[in-house]
Amino acid sequence: MAEQGAAKGPLPVVDFLKIPDRGDPYLEGHRCQKCKAVFLGTREACSKCGTRGALEAVRLSNKGELYVYSIVHRSFPGITVPYVSAVVDLEGGGTVKGNLIGIDPDPAKIKMGMPIEVVYQKAPRKDAEGNEYLTYYFQPRS
Ligand SMILES: [Zn+2]
Repeated sequence: MAEQGAAKGPLPVVDFLKIPDRGDPYLEGHRCQKCKAVFLGTREACSKCGTRGALEAVRLSNKGELYVYSIVHRSFPGITVPYVSAVVDLEGGGTVKGNLIGIDPDPAKIKMGMPIEVVYQKAPRKDAEGNEYLTYYFQPRS
């Protein structure tokens, strides 16, 4: 089974990262048809207005802005530090946590509200069965 998994393309690192057979990967959210709130992942009822059964899957934008970040200096063994953990508000809705790359982990260079884009790359490591994973990062957008 492991060979079968490894023979396909990379697997999504989280279930809200979608990899279509054709076209580019994207992040998927769910939008409440009543109040238009957007969430990551599936749920029964809208967390904002409580409406049930009115959440539709939507393709989230790859553009957004930095909401908040933290420079991480200590992590698990094997993880290169420091790195920038960030929360980004995407255009049109959706708030996503991830790592900000393409910028020095320096508070003097990172600005709240700076425009970012979502980029997709193979994760640096494989799992124990040799599967590759596709993950997403944020990077500054000019
Ligand atoms: Zn709602």
